[in-house]
Amino acid sequence: MIKENVEAVREHIRDAALRSGREPGEITLIAVSKTKPLSDLMAAYEVGCRDFGENRVQEILEKAPHMPEDAHFHMIGHLQRNKVKQAIRYVKMIHSVDSWPLAQQIESEAAKEGRAIDILLEVNVAGEKSKYGFTPTQTLPAVREISRFTHLCIRGLMTVAPLVDDPEKNRGVFRELKKLSVDIRNQIVDNVSMDVLSMGMTGDYMVAIEEGATMVRVGTGIFGAR
Ligand SMILES: *Cc1c(COP(=O)(O)O)cnc(C)c1O
Repeated sequence: MIKENVEAVREHIRDAALRSGREPGEITLIAVSKTKPLSDLMAAYEVGCRDFGENRVQEILEKAPHMPEDAHFHMIGHLQRNKVKQAIRYVKMIHSVDSWPLAQQIESEAAKEGRAIDILLEVNVAGEKSKYGFTPTQTLPAVREISRFTHLCIRGLMTVAPLVDDPEKNRGVFRELKKLSVDIRNQIVDNVSMDVLSMGMTGDYMVAIEEGATMVRVGTGIFGAR
């Protein structure tokens, strides 16, 4: 089942990319494997998935050491500062940098390890009270501040769009995140590339791709209900 799901998702990614005049190869599929057993991750790995999304550090610590070396983990959930040290050992990218103190903690731990960490800033585009992230107006100032940290590389932005019945309802959210990333890129801040836009989940990743997503985070659509 996982094999068929991955194939279907890839086809939808290709269709959405072509529909909007983009190269399908620009889009990375992140298989969101939170709560799922290692055997499910391996099934996805066997059909070519190399990027896995998790929202708890503990789960990353349990799974990552047992996966092949070319499987990469992405931290996509709210990260507590006291978990940063453990998290950075195993993650390729942290999508959910949602505060300056968190960025500072990642900088400090990355410096100790002598590594640079790729991060995205999480933006709460829709302004939902229940969600983490910078407001759109806080984002450029945050990029400027965080870009001074020499062990962090700000690769772009991430958002978790509202849960909606019709994906079209999130088109405006995705468009706004894209616009924000273009505005920030036009400011040319050193140490910031803004080439990644992580947006779109099972319910709305096709719309997100049409609006410029370069990473889509698909859980249910690959592994089934949690
Ligand atoms: C769980 C989760 C996803 C995947 O959600 P699905 O609807 O199952 O595809 C994507 N992004 C984040 C941040 C998540 O926590």
